[in-house]
Amino acid sequence: MDNTMPMIPLRGLSIFPYMVLHFDIGREKSISALEKAMMLNQKIFLVSQIDAETDLPTSDDFYKVGTIAKIKQMLKLPGDSIRVLVEGIGRGEIEDIIFEVPYFKCAIKEIEEIQYEEIPTKILALMRSVLDSFEQYLSLSQKISIEIFPAVAGIEQPSRLADIITSHLDVKTDIKQKILEAIDPEERLEILIEILNSEVEILKIENDINSKVKTQINKSQKEYYLREQMKIIQEELGQDADIEDEVDDWLTQLKKLKLPAKTSEKIEKEIKRLKKIQPGSAEGGVIRTYIEWIFALPWNKMSKSNVDLKKAEKILNEDHYGLDKVKERIIEYLAVMHLSKTLKGPILCLVGPPGVGKTSVAKSIARAVNREFVRMSLGGVRDEAEIRGHRRTYIGAIPGRVISAMKDAGTKNPVFLLDEIDKIGSDFKGDPASALLEVLDPEQNKDFNDHYLEISFDLSKVMFITTANTIDTIPRPLLDRMEVISVTGYTEEEKVEIAKQYLIPKKVKEHGLKDENLTISEPVIRNIINYYTRESGVRNLEREIANICRKAARKIVEYNAKRIRLTTGNLENYLGKKRFRYDIIEGVNEVGVTTGLAWTIVGGDTLFIETTMVPGTGKLVLTGQLGEVMQESAKAGISYIRSKTKELGIDEKFYKENDLHIHIPEGATPKDGPSAGVTMCTAIISTLTNTPVRKEVAMTGEITLRGKVLPVGGIREKVLAAHRAGIKKILLPVDNEVDIEEIPANVRKKLEFVLINSVDEALEHALVR
Ligand code: ADP
Repeated sequence: MDNTMPMIPLRGLSIFPYMVLHFDIGREKSISALEKAMMLNQKIFLVSQIDAETDLPTSDDFYKVGTIAKIKQMLKLPGDSIRVLVEGIGRGEIEDIIFEVPYFKCAIKEIEEIQYEEIPTKILALMRSVLDSFEQYLSLSQKISIEIFPAVAGIEQPSRLADIITSHLDVKTDIKQKILEAIDPEERLEILIEILNSEVEILKIENDINSKVKTQINKSQKEYYLREQMKIIQEELGQDADIEDEVDDWLTQLKKLKLPAKTSEKIEKEIKRLKKIQPGSAEGGVIRTYIEWIFALPWNKMSKSNVDLKKAEKILNEDHYGLDKVKERIIEYLAVMHLSKTLKGPILCLVGPPGVGKTSVAKSIARAVNREFVRMSLGGVRDEAEIRGHRRTYIGAIPGRVISAMKDAGTKNPVFLLDEIDKIGSDFKGDPASALLEVLDPEQNKDFNDHYLEISFDLSKVMFITTANTIDTIPRPLLDRMEVISVTGYTEEEKVEIAKQYLIPKKVKEHGLKDENLTISEPVIRNIINYYTRESGVRNLEREIANICRKAARKIVEYNAKRIRLTTGNLENYLGKKRFRYDIIEGVNEVGVTTGLAWTIVGGDTLFIETTMVPGTGKLVLTGQLGEVMQESAKAGISYIRSKTKELGIDEKFYKENDLHIHIPEGATPKDGPSAGVTMCTAIISTLTNTPVRKEVAMTGEITLRGKVLPVGGIREKVLAAHRAGIKKILLPVDNEVDIEEIPANVRKKLEFVLINSVDEALEHALVR
């Protein structure tokens, strides 16, 4: 049986078998342990820390004997902490710590308790004595009620009796730990008697001191007390009047909102409840927060939205360079919206690599249709409650993020951007995607139900726009509701223009500079693009420009400089050493190294494939985190080569006496897909025939067992990346010919494209024969 389980060290508290306890956890490791336990069988091992102050305990910082517990309930609190309710099941001892990161996983030895059929006389006597002391303890203690005594006195088993009594005691953890570690019932009872007797002594002395102090106060300050009490009474009388006013105020406000009768009634009931509960009580606070939320929401407030296509076009052009197709599709979308006068159409989804302007296009749309703009990122949202809120019965509950965003918008009809819809997750706390579906569905979102509000809120006037890096991971039902517009990466020329016309003026202004203070020439911009950033979008480019502005601002203030000129010569003073090498073809032609082209959600990239052969037994070793499809494609390549050894001039038995190793650097990034087939095959043949590969050639394409090259996706992004890397010649599958048109003309002009049918043709162009 598996005796391992996640473990949480407890600070300043201990738990015993049969005991139910709730506590809050916030430490990352503990949360991980909890999540793991929830995924397994809800069992968790709890031990006390030796010093409650230790933040990051290691194996020496906690006791070894603790309690195996079952998680009964958990509740997310505001901030990152979680409240859990657990029930102790039995004692256990840590035999071994299996690992410490990301949480403690321990091998636990369960400790069995002795259960007596008939209790020996000596133990009976000890039990009686324990109960006597406990009764005395309760009568002296101010903190624990004597009412629990009969229930405790009825417990029959000695070990259980000792545990229950100890769990009630108000003593330090190290003292309780002694009981936890005493396994033999007789020993446990003896230790407990000692503890109880010493506690009784302490309580007696404490009570003695207290009563002395009290009599003194009684005499000298009786009058003072009476006065204080009178003040409180008066305040309360006054407060009642205040509450009346407050309630009336809210009720008038509510009337003005003109909400549907059912909603209005529900809110009215909440407001009136304030009168019935004690002023200053916690419940009053909860109700007030609720009412404040209700009044902060834009129930009826709308922006006067209008769609003026001319103006919209102007605004989109004002804010963005290029993106002609995107702008065109947006204008069409707005035109349809204008004609149909509703938003019941599909929802726009802007898809593309980071930093290509998806968010900023959405902002421009809001400006163009004259609506407020709010944004909510879905990256990593795994809990339905984040979208829909927690019920009010949870302590510290608040509405979900959708309703919070509506409050920020302040109007009922904002443009609402749902960012990173492809990154939405799901786990045991529910499925956020289906909650989101309800938000986006025009049939349902008129009555959107937030768990906290408990009354429906109308989202039907909202204009939703979503963004994603890829459509592959968007849940299908969501994707079906959306109209996908792809926003592709930029060429170097486009980036230069964006920097000149938009990014530099914007950053200069943001940093409080004037245009004449700072000159960044075009060659400098190109250097930033090529040596300091490697991206499809312009996010890092914008960041580097901001960097320069900051440094320039400092110079202007510190040295009273008037005008700063950046040149390719002094750029390093501002941005440090060059970060990327632009010209990968600088090196010499090598055997076994080919350049492939990859397409990931962050855009296109070049991919180096290295192969080497070492004496061995015919194994194929693949490293660099290659996915399954990629591994299969490598195997297909080898089978093809084996079937063609003669034509290729390769030793027939190469695979018998050698191991072949294929590695793709930047091993930390997972890679997958069939499109590196031809590149891997070429690299292997280069190794086997000891023929160098041309540095300036890059290629992409899937291969078949017969060596045919099949078309692949993402050609535009791949070619842009190859161009960024200084590639001169690109080998593409014949069937990808149509995609060449998608490539911006100025990039196309600088590259030579070769359309290939087979691996043989790839070899012809790639190998130095
Ligand atoms: P995304 O949402 O696609 O990750 P952002 O909208 O955050 O990208 O864009 C990053 C930055 O680049 C923003 O400051 C944006 O204004 C700017 N930007 C992107 N594309 C363009 C463009 N075509 N013209 C002008 N600025 C752009």
